[in-house]
Amino acid sequence: MDNSTEKDEKPLDFIRQIVVADQESGKHATPVTRFPPEPNGFLHIGHAKSICLNFGIADEFNGTCHLRFDDTNPTKEEDEYVRAIKEDVQWLGFDWGENLFFSSDYFDKLYDFAVELIKREKAYVCGLNAEEMRQHRGTLKEPGKESPYRNRSIEENLELFTAMKEGKFDEGTHVLRAKIDMASPNLNMRDPVIYRIMKATHHRTGDKWCIYPMYDYTHCLSDEQEVITHSLCTLEFEDHRPLYDWFLDVLETPSHPRQIEFARLNLNYTVMSKRKLMQLVQENHVQGWDDPRMLTVSGLRRRGYTPASIRNFCAEIGIGKRESWIDMGVLENAVRNDLNIIAPRVLGVLDPLKVVITNYPEDKTEDIKAKNHPQNPDMGSRSLPFSRELYIERTDFMEDPPKKFFRLGIGREVRLRYAYFITCESVVKDEQTGEILEVHCTYDPATYGGNAPDGRKVKGTIHWVSAKHALKCEIRLYDRLFAVENPDADKDVDFKEHLNPNSLQSLPNCMVEPSLADLAPGDCVQFERQGYFCVDLKDSSPGQPVFNRTVGLRDSWAKRNK
Ligand code: ATP
Ligand code: MG
Repeated sequence: MDNSTEKDEKPLDFIRQIVVADQESGKHATPVTRFPPEPNGFLHIGHAKSICLNFGIADEFNGTCHLRFDDTNPTKEEDEYVRAIKEDVQWLGFDWGENLFFSSDYFDKLYDFAVELIKREKAYVCGLNAEEMRQHRGTLKEPGKESPYRNRSIEENLELFTAMKEGKFDEGTHVLRAKIDMASPNLNMRDPVIYRIMKATHHRTGDKWCIYPMYDYTHCLSDEQEVITHSLCTLEFEDHRPLYDWFLDVLETPSHPRQIEFARLNLNYTVMSKRKLMQLVQENHVQGWDDPRMLTVSGLRRRGYTPASIRNFCAEIGIGKRESWIDMGVLENAVRNDLNIIAPRVLGVLDPLKVVITNYPEDKTEDIKAKNHPQNPDMGSRSLPFSRELYIERTDFMEDPPKKFFRLGIGREVRLRYAYFITCESVVKDEQTGEILEVHCTYDPATYGGNAPDGRKVKGTIHWVSAKHALKCEIRLYDRLFAVENPDADKDVDFKEHLNPNSLQSLPNCMVEPSLADLAPGDCVQFERQGYFCVDLKDSSPGQPVFNRTVGLRDSWAKRNK
């Protein structure tokens, strides 16, 4: 992977401190971590935090990180998601090498472990239905009640569990439960279900199984099978840790990974749960999982985020033990900082207004030299065609501007970026609507390159393109998908009520410099004065890019919120 991830001098986070301590004590010479997505949706920016943590630790401490699909729920999981998740992890710059696993790889082992639990009198087949089980479970204040099936004999349990496996029972009639403690103050320890009957086809094991293991049981034992050293998960699993440890202790497994919890990423102006992202997709509030407004990894990619910018963002927010909220501006800044360095500068007009330079020869075309990056001469230069008719930004002209308007107005002189000074003489209007159709200017040939030999100054510099050479294209401007900081704040209001109705604005008639016809999908540029843009991965065709605005040049929300 490239080395552009920010290596700052911050102290090690608490998880990396544990990894170092384990290395120093000789407990684990090298860490083995895993990223365990459930293939029931696309990855989002929260997953990126977990990916950067798990793969990052492996990279930094000479260890390995496994990609393990946690595929224990056949009804919600699909191969499409497996493919998308792999692509996203690789795109972020990480490599699992040989270490690609599926929880379903362990279905046989997990079954054997369950039989072992029964034999050790630590599991039983329970015939309570879901509702009865809820009633027996108790509450945080009240202890639970033991199931009437709790004290079945080992033989009877083995027989019933085999019958479950053989498909002799209907869904919901029996489950296998761990036999722990119905009075435990931790509800997760009140005889949790470890196997349920599901007559569903699995994306990898087909119809081999009609019983499927539950997450908590599967997770610790999958970690154990892979000899994971540090099993990193988000804080909501803290209360599950005693159960994680219980399974491994009772089964006396050769390895016992250590579960460590960290605070999940919460970002304002978005929702982060896959279930909610799925709703946005299925109800067509967005155009798919990779819609550039979605904070999925594929959406961010299509929006023009770079892998380095996402890694830098994750490094900057760090790893902590307390829940916190990160401002969307921090993410936007991360991509701005990266693109500032790598994006070539180009000229493009989003809302074109025609300028005629009346003293410029009709048939002449000049090549104007323009730098590709103001601070980086290594990025070279290109030539921009200049001719009598140009387009400028409509917002760069006012017929009768106030004093502080440093752009073009009648009688005012401005610099055309890299080219000449021009002075506006008159306008041509639509007689009916009064709309300005053309601005007529004269240019000063002595100001070639943008400087006047007599030393006179102009206050404004505006961008432009030559009308007859310009490439017409569509540019899409994006705003945040939600109009409020926390779309989930009010439980009585559907989060979709807070969608920002103006999150997508398509401008079909933009005029950009002709060199951009050669860009490839995914290429990024800075349209000077307008922001960073990338060539859309899906809707562009050869010679005809469609641009997505990745981010503006400044944080416009910071101002709006003041
Ligand atoms: P969601 O809650 O969005 O549906 P999930 O946790 O159910 O996500 P998984 O596929 O189970 O999704 O997650 C894979 C890994 O990513 C888990 O280890 C999980 O802890 C981690 N993860 C998920 N969301 C975040 C987040 N917001 N911040 C950090 N890590 C996360
Ligand atoms: Mg989950």
